[in-house]
Amino acid sequence: MTEPNADIIVVGAGLAGLVAAAEAADAGKRVLLLDQEGEQNLGGQAFWSFGGLFLVDSPEQRRLGIRDSRELALSDWMTTAGFDRPEDHWPRQWAQAYVDFAAGEKRSWLAAQGLKLFPVVGWAERGGQGALGPGNSVPRFHITWGTGPGVVEPFERRVRAHLLSGR
Ligand SMILES: Cc1cc2nc3c(=O)[nH]c(=O)nc-3n(C[C@H](O)[C@H](O)[C@H](O)COP(=O)(O)OP(=O)(O)OC[C@H]3O[C@@H](n4cnc5c(N)ncnc54)[C@H](O)[C@@H]3O)c2cc1C
Repeated sequence: MTEPNADIIVVGAGLAGLVAAAEAADAGKRVLLLDQEGEQNLGGQAFWSFGGLFLVDSPEQRRLGIRDSRELALSDWMTTAGFDRPEDHWPRQWAQAYVDFAAGEKRSWLAAQGLKLFPVVGWAERGGQGALGPGNSVPRFHITWGTGPGVVEPFERRVRAHLLSGR
């Protein structure tokens, strides 16, 4: 995506930039994706990550007997964040939107792109103090098959497809 007449310029080709670029290009926008690093850094930190994904009330959790819900996940997030200032308005809105996504279409959206999950759910950022303490009160760390590169791959593929089509 090197044409100068872009509708959207995305700065940073980490996972956030790749997702934004892929979604914008799929929506018909001409996207310029820039990064200070070379192409070998595509995917940024996510490539090197463990590929653990936050999902709420998933089939993987239920199979392991983990009882989760949108309400519990939002309660965990709010307790951990402790939003109590006027400027916390947008972070609070983001938390609600992200928990809705993680309890809703996130899993099927990723699956539709070919991302697969390992059938074990880990307990990262755990609280261990129940729903009233900070952290995840239940395991929510879903491990991507292929770890970090497995998370990056669908979005890199979509971005490269647009590059090849010249959009
Ligand atoms: C070892 C490791 C394991 C992890 N494991 C997990 C995990 O299991 N689960 C999880 O949810 N998270 C995990 N994380 C965190 C997660 O990987 C990151 O939060 C996420 O990938 C960040 O993505 P990003 O696109 O926002 O930023 P980045 O990946 O940091 O990408 C930012 C990009 O912007 C570019 N850039 C920055 N400034 C400029 C500039 N001025 N001009 C041009 N380009 C610029 C950088 O070169 C980079 O390519 C892990 C992180 C690490 C390091």
